[in-house]
Amino acid sequence: MKIEECRADFPITRDLIYLDSAATSLTPKPVVQAMVEYDLRYRANVGRGVHRLTAVATHRYRDARDAVRSFVGGEGGTLAVTRNTTEAIGMVAAGLAWQKGDRVVTTLLEHHSNLLPWLRLREQGVEVEVVRPDADGRLDPADLEAAIRDDTRLVAVTHASNVLGTVLPVREIAGTCHDRGARLLVDAAQSVPHLPVDAAGLGCDYLCFSGHKMLGPTGTGGLWMREPDLEPLFVGGGSIESATADGYTLAPGEERYEAGTPPIAGAIGLGRAVAYLREIGMDAIRHHEKRLCARLIDGLAALDGVAVVGADAEGERIGVVSFTVEGMHPHEVAQVLDEAAAVLVRSGHHCCQPLMEHLGLPDGTVRASTYIYTTTEEIDMLIATVEELSRRVA
Ligand code: PLP
Repeated sequence: MKIEECRADFPITRDLIYLDSAATSLTPKPVVQAMVEYDLRYRANVGRGVHRLTAVATHRYRDARDAVRSFVGGEGGTLAVTRNTTEAIGMVAAGLAWQKGDRVVTTLLEHHSNLLPWLRLREQGVEVEVVRPDADGRLDPADLEAAIRDDTRLVAVTHASNVLGTVLPVREIAGTCHDRGARLLVDAAQSVPHLPVDAAGLGCDYLCFSGHKMLGPTGTGGLWMREPDLEPLFVGGGSIESATADGYTLAPGEERYEAGTPPIAGAIGLGRAVAYLREIGMDAIRHHEKRLCARLIDGLAALDGVAVVGADAEGERIGVVSFTVEGMHPHEVAQVLDEAAAVLVRSGHHCCQPLMEHLGLPDGTVRASTYIYTTTEEIDMLIATVEELSRRVA
């Protein structure tokens, strides 16, 4: 399918200009249909049952999970279905046996979901170093490299910033981690939907992502593990090989991390979402978003009273652009964009409050983010409306 042909699958785009895909993407009709089909035609629990519906549901659930694993380049590893990125990161934080004096390295670019779980470990005597970017949000890879010492147990970094759109050199970071014996967790919430991601090739140990940001249903996500070496957060139904009154043996693969009934319809929907993304092709998506992003940055940066945050960062970026309008609170800008032109953007600190403080933007920013259904005309409408706004304030 050509990228220009996909819009008809997203009815919301008929009436609204949706530029908030970094928070949650829209979902196309085939994904909704896949979930409805499960509910109406073969709804049953998955696992060990033998009746015909459970057989179909189990088969479709496992196929979907395999498709997602393969989509993130995770063959050879283990993929557990989670509710979202936050849960996946939490499973790593809870699943490693921490010792007093262990060291975790992370950055100030992180979403709260990849910062708070590590800060909480300080209560257990774990040392947590948060590497800071410069005043414009640029992270010097040398600073990160210097922080990763031989006694570092885990490095947890974002693949792409949900505020600045910058992409971190995770392959190089993985090289440093492995030289120094540290494991690497990559928060891929913003990269898996927008870039071709190869978990195994990147060299990370854990890759965490959300289904609802990549055309899939809410309440779905994934934790990919190079080795299934974490203690599961929950144990119970579905996660065991066998159990007696005295103990149990956990299942060897992904099931050990999926205690209880998983989001069956959700996972099947997510499986359909990755098939949809494959039909368009991640390279085509990348190209489309690069073009839109350049137009967005150039258009906004040319306006008086509008500042694009982190626009001059070199290297790769995703279609996420943060900006401020002089004299207006970001929430006010977002509200006017909605009322005046049905342009929906996000505003505030984007769950990155420490980064916002560091950038000197305690009120946060306005954030526009693109996806496969975004058009050039929509970007131009955003720019024209912001221009009008900034003129009114000046
Ligand atoms: N990490 C990043 C970089 C994000 O952008 C987000 C959500 O915006 C998250 C983590 C948390 O994702 P979720 O709310 O799906 O758990």
